[in-house]
Amino acid sequence: MDYRDLPIRDDLRGLTPYGAPQIDVPYPLNTNENPYGPPAELVADLARAVTEAATTLNRYPDRDATELRKDLADYLAHGLTAQNLWAANGSNEVLQQILQVFGGPGRSAIGFEPSYSMHRLIALATATEWISGLREGDYTLDSAKAIAAIEQQRPNIVFLTSPNNPTGTAMDLDVIRAVLKAADGVEAMVVVDEAYFEFARPGTPSALTLLPENPRLIVTRTMSKAFAMAGARVGYLAADPAVIDALLLVRLPYHLSALTQAAARTALKHVTALLGTVDAVKAQRDRIVEELTALGLPVVPSDANFVFFEVPGGDQKALWEKLLTHGVLIRDVGIPGMLRVTAGTEPETTAFLDALKECL
Ligand SMILES: *Cc1c(COP(=O)(O)O)cnc(C)c1O
Repeated sequence: MDYRDLPIRDDLRGLTPYGAPQIDVPYPLNTNENPYGPPAELVADLARAVTEAATTLNRYPDRDATELRKDLADYLAHGLTAQNLWAANGSNEVLQQILQVFGGPGRSAIGFEPSYSMHRLIALATATEWISGLREGDYTLDSAKAIAAIEQQRPNIVFLTSPNNPTGTAMDLDVIRAVLKAADGVEAMVVVDEAYFEFARPGTPSALTLLPENPRLIVTRTMSKAFAMAGARVGYLAADPAVIDALLLVRLPYHLSALTQAAARTALKHVTALLGTVDAVKAQRDRIVEELTALGLPVVPSDANFVFFEVPGGDQKALWEKLLTHGVLIRDVGIPGMLRVTAGTEPETTAFLDALKECL
């Protein structure tokens, strides 16, 4: 039977599920994971923590993940406390909860594209109308145009992604401030998705610095990228405590398992070792930018752990397939003539660059 013959919501007809290919290849450089596994001492500590949590698995976990939120607040600093933090199964669940509270039928959300496709997909899944705003040719956001779009469209939620995925572009705080002001005028919430913040080049300020004056601002982060914990599914946000009170209305009771909470808290104890791989990843990112530039391929400057580049001749599908025959899996995000590659370990990055040279 075809699922379309089932009585699914009319507004879901015609959508396609999120589908980054999960192919078993020697060089998986397509989903912006950290190429380094968790350090051995963290793995050992995780085993201990999970074993301890397992002794009380007959009980529901702490519904409010209070201890984890405190640890996350300590990590983010900026004067934040547990009351400013919220955590869920990946920042995707955090985003879904935000849309469930502030979006929904009859409401809308705007994002400035190209950007993270899940913002649109989660909006649609929560029956929130999606408005496609645009970035400039260099993938920055023009604040005057963003303000005009917000004032005209009057969305309930504004999504900003910085550093942006798939382009790697970080956003000036001035642009975020301008968007916040416009959003205030139409009583919209502003979500700044900082999934890649730890990879930003020195001097890139976080939107966390804007939280004290902006009760409508929500900054989302994840342990999936810099923290090398994509498999654990932990994402979080920082916002005014009132925002977290609002999220409690829609979160499922006990949404974050005791095992997940224990794993996340243990990882945060090893934050220095975990983030120790970030510089190595950034070095490979910068190497990709340099080498692609030397090959004559136009590249977008990146503050993330990936590089978005122009494919000579414009046939990104053909190049993607050719690289795959070399065991290198990168990402075609559906933008004609462009591909995105995640920075790997040094040998992985070398494999990508060598394969690319052969394919061109
Ligand atoms: C990878 C990514 C996320 C992370 O999603 P998780 O659910 O936390 O794994 C969030 N936002 C952006 C822009 C991303 O690229």
